Amino acid sequence: MFDYFLHYEPQFRLIIFVSTFIIIFSWELLAKKRSSEFSVDRTLTNFLLMLINSLALRLVMPILAIELAFQLETKGFGILQQIALPEFAIFLISLILLDLAIYIQHVIFHKVPFLWRFHRVHHADTGFDVTTGVRFHPGEIIFSMFYKLILVLLLGPSAAAVLMFEILLSSSSLFTHANARMPRNIDILLRWFIVTPDMHRIHHSDQTDEALTNFGFNLSLWDRLFGTYRPDPNYDHIDMKIGTRNIPAKKASSIWYMLISPVYKN
Ligand SMILES: [Zn+2]
Ligand SMILES: [Zn+2]
Repeated sequence: MFDYFLHYEPQFRLIIFVSTFIIIFSWELLAKKRSSEFSVDRTLTNFLLMLINSLALRLVMPILAIELAFQLETKGFGILQQIALPEFAIFLISLILLDLAIYIQHVIFHKVPFLWRFHRVHHADTGFDVTTGVRFHPGEIIFSMFYKLILVLLLGPSAAAVLMFEILLSSSSLFTHANARMPRNIDILLRWFIVTPDMHRIHHSDQTDEALTNFGFNLSLWDRLFGTYRPDPNYDHIDMKIGTRNIPAKKASSIWYMLISPVYKN
């Protein structure tokens, strides 16, 4: 059964991705949070980065995390495969540990100057909407895939957990970047469990003290646990400035500049 899913994995993930995108995009149309987020250039740049990234993964990586997990599943590799626990427990633990690992990776991308040059492309976006959720430099995507391959080797998660995690990660990235309103009480309730758009928007502030908070992707637990949680921005969500101070909107909307920008220190 799982072999069947794995065989059709790209198509399966594409359907989930497109459906989630349409849902979040409709939510933005119906309940927009901030005005003037849309610009043809920046939207095109965000989509082009997404296309280049899918291509880069296929061309550069010899194997993807999901394929490696599937190949190693029955070979006893990794910590989790040494523990005698029901399959579902291993599945859940795998998801939680992978989420923690991605939180750590995100912190590393901000703290290591060389890696920040790549992650900066995500933060340079002067808007914040569903398309920001697919805006990453190919260098970051390739680094992240190597990181996930090492995680699969060390942890030994089930292939089903890795597949579920990849789906959760790409869907939550669309959700957490939504430029959409959510009733405050629902936002507060959800934040006890998951990262919400209002929580992640603070991470996209051009103020350094705000950008170094709310690193989580799925579970909000890690920010609360490691003291990087911030409930509100300095200013209102509507007035806060999004982006990075050194990169003006015009450069941030240029696909060429964004692709070569890691060569520049600032
Ligand atoms: Zn970041
Ligand atoms: Zn983001």
